Formats: sequence, structure tokens, C-alpha cells
Amino acid sequence: ADDVALDPWGSATVDDYRKLFDQFGIEEFEDVLPEIPDPHYLMRRGVIFGHRDYRPVAEAMRNDDPFAALSGFMPTGDPHIGHKLVFDEIIWHQQQGGDAYGLIADLEAHAARGLTWAEIDEHARDYVLSLLALGFDPEAGELYRQSDNREVQDLGFELGAKANFSELGAIYDFDGETDVSHMQSVVTQMADILYPQLDEPKPTVIPVGPDQDPHMRLARDLAARMRYFKVTEAFASFEADPEERAIIAEAYEALSERHPDETIRCADAARYLENGRDPDATDPNATTADSAIMMLKEAGKEPLRPRTRFLDRNATDEAFDALIEAIDGEKRVFDEHIDAFELSRPAAEALARQVELDHGGYGFLAPSSIYHRFMTGLTGGKMSSSIPASHISLLDDPEDGYDKVKAATTGGRETAAEQRELGGRADECPVYELYAYLLAGEDDEFAADVYEECVGGERLCGGCKEQAAELMAAFLEDHQEKREEWAEKLDELDIDFDA
Ligand code: SF4
Repeated sequence: ADDVALDPWGSATVDDYRKLFDQFGIEEFEDVLPEIPDPHYLMRRGVIFGHRDYRPVAEAMRNDDPFAALSGFMPTGDPHIGHKLVFDEIIWHQQQGGDAYGLIADLEAHAARGLTWAEIDEHARDYVLSLLALGFDPEAGELYRQSDNREVQDLGFELGAKANFSELGAIYDFDGETDVSHMQSVVTQMADILYPQLDEPKPTVIPVGPDQDPHMRLARDLAARMRYFKVTEAFASFEADPEERAIIAEAYEALSERHPDETIRCADAARYLENGRDPDATDPNATTADSAIMMLKEAGKEPLRPRTRFLDRNATDEAFDALIEAIDGEKRVFDEHIDAFELSRPAAEALARQVELDHGGYGFLAPSSIYHRFMTGLTGGKMSSSIPASHISLLDDPEDGYDKVKAATTGGRETAAEQRELGGRADECPVYELYAYLLAGEDDEFAADVYEECVGGERLCGGCKEQAAELMAAFLEDHQEKREEWAEKLDELDIDFDA
């Protein structure tokens, strides 16, 4: 009855994360944690609680293989400590050897939120400065604005050809009144997500809040759809010499005309052409195969010789499972091609990707995602950019940051005596969250001590907030100094803040 609604542009309150696992198939992060060489503290402390398909990223990390991390920031206000979680996630993946991308979703801010370009420019600059100040390396990674990135826009246009209005309507609640630019901003965002794989397919993680999951599901679908079509075509000409290729292509063309609603016929054509098998009645595709051979005979051509050089039946179960996950939406296509060419699944996957790339396709892997908890507002309830007291902006004066922490709601008891007796409620305390998400930094022991002392009644809220407020002021001071340093160097980076 009370399904969790995930709406990227709506209210971002998700009160029961557990439902996400059942309802949307988000997996628990805990399960993948042991596979990560040196997990970030947000991972260790369960702030990052869920993932979709993070294993390929962890594996690439372990094997020193290429992988990427990307996140976009909509420049609609000041960056605050909630955004810092995502900044940290991107920077950490960069430090683990990944290609890191930080993008300013200015087209989306303009289309979906109606901000003026002047407002966007100012906020964009602030986001970039904080990302740099927190440790993003712009030499090793890439920072861009959607509106400046022609490749992203071109890719978005192509992806748009694989999605239609009804589908976007269902995912994003679009209706007849939704403006076209808003829809365009969706395909642009899809292009952002796949952009790290434009030159080379690689595991890519997008750290997001759970409200952004609809974007991820669509992006994963589109990645598969781009491949579905390309792979089908590519197999027809796979590894054939130019003459064979021409014959198969011819058979494919003719068959496609006769069976316009079947996309798989080229495989049938190729199969029968290649092994010269007698298209007997035992095969459900006999009619098609028969047609292929008939056509070839009509054209005075002989069926081609059998080809077995790609046999590889030693696939391990693990590889098999990984492949099933990787190809998800293309299962049917692969099943049929695997039969046709007698390939093992990993061999088919690798070949398909290569063939697709050779033929100008993209070879996208489905992008992965990790999900972090939202921070509770300092005043209780949701942390919101539009309620200044609920959050600490990364641009707040250290003194204001100090005051906001001092004024925060706590999970403390009515009286000190009661607190000593019953202990505080750290699990419901926004101040404890500040320690766990930010102030304790790498120091797990410190975070654990605050928790234990709180629930054990040794820690009282006054002193606890004083300590947190001082740490917050020091953090802001340090962060803003680093921002200043980067502000002087910003011109050297190739980002235009006067679009
Ligand atoms: Fe929160 Fe600290 Fe009070 Fe515990 S002692 S409820 S962590 S403010």
C-alpha cells in the first residue's frame, strides 16, 4: 500500500530504505563491502547502504583495470554538507585509480528547475570550487558543463532515439504539459551517465541518493538497448571475410524485408550459411533458414564452410553469472547468437563487444550505482537547501556553522539525569550524523566512541554539541581556505562560468 515513490524532482524523503531492496532490486551494500580493497568510511559506516551492480567496479579496482566514477550537480543553490557526501564519493573513486568526472547539470537546472543562466553560473562555480577544495584532481579527472559538452549532447540525441514519450512519462510522471526541454534534459543526463564509456567501455559507478534511482534504471536500459541493435547487425558480418560478409548481408537484407518484425534473422541466415546445416523440420527457424539458403542458391552462391574456431566451453559458473548480469536486456539476442556460433557466453560477450566497437557501436556496459542515506536536517526532518537552518552550506561562515550545530536538534533526553540513566538516542540524532558522515573523518574509532558514550549515558548533549560545533567551524575554515586557493587557479581550468 505505502510503496516508496522515487521521484528525482520531487520530495526526497525516503523513510524506509529497506523497501528499496525489495521493491526496486537495489542490493545491500554490505554484501559487496568485502570485495572492495580499501572501502571509504561512508561505506564502512553504512551511510552508503545500497548498490546496483557495483561488483564490476570493485573487481576493476582490485585488478587495476580501468573504471570510472561520475556524478552531476545541479547548480540550484549553495553546495552544502549533504552534497559533500557525493563529492567525497567521486574523489575517493578517483584516488582508487578510477577516471573521475564531475559535471554541472546546467541544462537540467535550466529546463527542470527554471533557473536563469546568471544564477546557474554563480552556483556552478561554487560547486566546482568545493569539489576541488575537497580533493578532486582536475588534471587526472574531468570537469564539464553539460551545455559545453558537444559529445554529451550528440550522445543524448542518439539515446533519445531509443526512448519514447510514454516511457519517460511513466518513469518521470511527465504529462502533456511537460515541456520538451525537460524531456531533453533527461536524455542529456542519460548521456552524462554513459559519457565515461564513450571511448572505451568500462565499469562506471554513479554515486547518487536513492531518489535518483529512476535515472539509473533508465540509463541501464538504454545502455543495453544501444547494444541490442548494434550487436544484432554486427554479428551478421562478424569475422567474415569481405565476400562472406556481403553474402550474409544480402541474405540478411532480404530476410529482414520478408520478416520485418524479426530482428534476429541475420543470425539464422549466418548460422545456416556457416555450417551448411540442413534446415530440417526439427528446427523452429527452419522456414527462415530455408529461405536464406534458397535465396543464396537463387543468387548462385554456396553455403559457407563450418566455422568452429571460437569454441570455448570452459567458462566458469562465475563468469557465466557475470555475463548474465552484464547482458541483462540482451539475453534473447545472446542466447540465439550463442547457439548460432556455438560460443561460450564469456566468449560471446567479449566478441560481441569487440565486434560492436569495430562496427562503430558503443559497447556500453550497464552503469552501476551506489546509494547513500540522506542526512537529517539539523532542525529535524529533511535537510533542505531551502531551509538554511536545516543544513550547513559549505560557504557558511565558520561561526554560523558553529551556531547552527549548537542550535541543532538532538536525540538527547529531557534532563541530564535521565540521559545518564537511559542514554541518548544517537540513532535519531542529527548531531551524531554529523560525526559519522563528516566530523569523524577517517577515524572509525572516534565515531564509534561518540556513539557508545551517547547511548551509554556518558555523553551529554551540551558538551557533545560543543565538540561537534568546534569541529564543524574548523572544517569550514579549512575548506574555505582551500576554495580560495582554487579560486585563484580556476582560470587555468577549461571551464566557462559565463555561459
Ligand atoms: Fe546526539 Fe551527542 Fe546528545 Fe548523543 S550526546 S543525543 S550524539 S547530541
